[in-house]
Amino acid sequence: MALATPGADVPLLQVQGVTLQYKTSEYVVTATHRVDFDVYSSERYVLLGPSGCGKSTLLKAIGGYLSPSEGTIRLKGREVREPGPDRMMVFQEFDQLLPWKTVQENVAFALTASGKASGAEARDRAAHYIEKVGLAKFADSHPHMLSGGMKQRVAIARGMAMEPDVLLMDEPYAALDALTRRRMQEELLQLWDDTRFTVLFVTHSIEEAIRIGTRILLLSPHPGQVKAELNSIPPAELGTAAQAELETRINDMLFVH
Ligand code: ADP
Ligand code: MG
Repeated sequence: MALATPGADVPLLQVQGVTLQYKTSEYVVTATHRVDFDVYSSERYVLLGPSGCGKSTLLKAIGGYLSPSEGTIRLKGREVREPGPDRMMVFQEFDQLLPWKTVQENVAFALTASGKASGAEARDRAAHYIEKVGLAKFADSHPHMLSGGMKQRVAIARGMAMEPDVLLMDEPYAALDALTRRRMQEELLQLWDDTRFTVLFVTHSIEEAIRIGTRILLLSPHPGQVKAELNSIPPAELGTAAQAELETRINDMLFVH
C-alpha cells in the first residue's frame, strides 16, 4: 500500500498577498498588487502577462532581492528574506556568465562560491550538467566563443548544477531567434523529464507559456494582479486543436475585460 508522504500536499513555494513597490522620495511604482499563488514540487509553473505587469519584479522578490510591501513569500514554509542557493535565477540577457572563466569554470564556480561542493566534486557535478545541456565539447571555451543559445544553456546548467529547490527563469529565450528558441524549449522539457526539477518560468508569450507550463498564472497589466490560474495541456497535445483553443482562451482573458 502506498503511504502518503508527510507534507506532500504542502506547496514548495507560497506567494501570499504579495504587493511589490519601487519607492523613492519622489514616487512609488506599484509593480504587483496582492498576488497569490502556490507552486508544488516538480511543477513547471509559468507567470504570463504583458510587459510591465511585474513578472520580473515578482521573480526578484522570490529570489530574495526585494521585500514585499505587503504579503509573504515562503519557500518550504520559511519566509524568504534574502537571496540563497536554494533559488537560482536564469535571466534573459546573454551576459550573465563570467567572461574570463570557461564554461566548466562558470558552472563549477557557482558550486564552490556557494559552498555547495568543492574540488573534484564540483568539477564532476559541473561536467555532468554541462553534458546534460549538450555542451561537453565546449567545456573549455570562454563565453565569447559561444552563441546566445549556448550561453543560455550554460546559465541553465549552472542553475541546475546547484540543485536548487526552484529554478527561476526570467524570459530566458526571449532574445533568441525563433528556431533556437523552439529547440531550447524542447530541451528544457527533456531536462525536466530527466530530473523533475521545479521551475518557475516567466514569459509574455502565450505560446511559450503553453509549451513550457504545467500550470499558468495570468497576470493583468500594471500593476500585476492575478487574473486566472489555468492548467496547460500535456506536451503530446501541442500542435492539436487543444493548443489553439487554450491560446484563444488565454488571449480572451488577457485582452478582453
Ligand atoms: P515585467 O517583467 O512584467 O515586464 P517588471 O517587473 O520589470 O515587469 O516591471 C513592473 C513595473 O515596475 C513596471 O511598471 C516598471 O516600469 C516598474 N519598475 C521595474 N523596475 C523598476 C525600478 N528599478 N524602479 C522603478 N520602477 C521599476
Ligand atoms: Mg521582465
